[in-house]
Parts: sequence; C-alpha cells; structure tokens
Amino acid sequence: MSSDNLIEIKNLTKTYASGDDTLLILDDIDFSLEKKRFMSLSGESGSGKSTFLNIIGALDKGDSGQVISCGLDLGRAGEREMARYRNRETGFIFQFHYLLKDFTALENVMMPGRILNRPVDELKTEAEALLKAVGLDRRAEHYPGQLSGGERQRVALARAMINSPALILADEPTGSLDEKNSRVIEELLFSICRDRDVSLILVTHDRRLALLAEECYTLHAGKLEKP
Ligand code: ADP
Ligand code: MG
Repeated sequence: MSSDNLIEIKNLTKTYASGDDTLLILDDIDFSLEKKRFMSLSGESGSGKSTFLNIIGALDKGDSGQVISCGLDLGRAGEREMARYRNRETGFIFQFHYLLKDFTALENVMMPGRILNRPVDELKTEAEALLKAVGLDRRAEHYPGQLSGGERQRVALARAMINSPALILADEPTGSLDEKNSRVIEELLFSICRDRDVSLILVTHDRRLALLAEECYTLHAGKLEKP
C-alpha cells in the first residue's frame, strides 16, 4: 500500500439477498484515497452509497475483497481493533443528527471521548473549542430539543471531530436541512476538515456540493465512476 493513501480498496464486492434474488450492490470495486483529500460520492437513491460508506467506516462488511483504511485491514481486524478504528480514526455525520436528547450540546460533543475514557478536563476544553469552531459556544449548555435543526447538525459535526479522526464520513449531512443551513454545514465541514488535515468522504445528492470536492465519484450499477 502506498504510504500516501489513507484508504485502499481492492476487488470489493457486496451483495444483499432479496427474496430469491441477489442484489449486486458493489461490483468488484477498486479505489484509493490519498491522505487529506476530499471525495464526493453521488448516485441514485439505492445505488449503494451508504453501503460503501458504512464498509469504509467498519459499520458493515463486504462479501469479498480487501479494504484497508488508516493502516487497518478491515476484513481481518479483530473486534477491539475495529472498535478503536471506529472511535478514533473515523467520525461519522449522518442525515439525522442522532444527538442524545438528555445530554447538553457540550456533553454530546464529549461523548465519543468519554467512551475512550479520555480525561474529562481535556475533553471539555476540546469540546468547547469545537463548539466555538461551529459557532455554538453560547449554546453549550442547551439540550438538543432547544436547538434548531441546523444547530443540531453543527453539534453533530463537532462531535465527529472530538477524537481527532483521520477521516470524516458524511452521509448526506445536509439532506434534511434548508438551503441556508445546508450552506453553513457544508462550509464548516470543509473548513474544519481542511484546518485539521482530515480526509473527507461526502455522500450527497447536491451536484453543486459534490463538485466542491477534489475527487468526484458516482456510484452506478455497482461501479464507481468518475463523471
Ligand atoms: P443509497 O445510500 O445509495 O441510497 P444503500 O447503500 O442504502 O443506497 O442501499 C443500496 C441497496 O441495498 C438498496 O437497494 C437497499 O435496498 C439495499 N440494502 C441496503 N441495506 C440492506 C440490507 N441490510 N438488507 C438488504 N438490502 C439492503
Ligand atoms: Mg444512503
């Protein structure tokens, strides 16, 4: 594997059973992404974008092929290594924020660090800095129910960054926001990843947003295509 590559995928195939049929979702995909690069992934609904992202994020596995990310062979790693990889090396942002409603914005941002048993003082300082970076330092003590949709997604972005991941995986992160809030999130996402040398894989339906990434791919009929 080239040392400049953060991700290297070879012959990745993924199928799902559907009744008597087999759905071929990812068809013998080869792919690599260099460190610090931004990639966008578009494609029709059901084309396998989330499946691809989830495999890179170690939330799902391929049927065959090799996926190496951040130096870890995701097909061979043990459960402990996988858990460490999910929590330390990757940050996920989904269409829905998945914040814990009984915890404040600050506590939500700290949560992935608490799971790693990181020192609370250090975490609090970092979480405060991240909330400031997303413009929510004055909302730190607010609960998700007291925040707007756009603000909740900004908290989710801060939470994804708390363990200083090498890679952010964003699955339609602006998909449930209005245009104004979408722009805020996309600008923050790009600037925060850029400032911290984080690689980004962004799944989006928004063609304009997709074209802001350095590498633009489309998933079609199980294959990754460069338009
Ligand atoms: P996208 O994110 O591009 O909309 P997905 O990766 O979510 O697509 O899904 C790709 C295809 O795989 C869809 O046809 C979906 O119905 C199917 N699929 C996804 N997850 C499962 C599953 N757990 N079991 C069976 N089929 C699934
Ligand atoms: Mg999807």
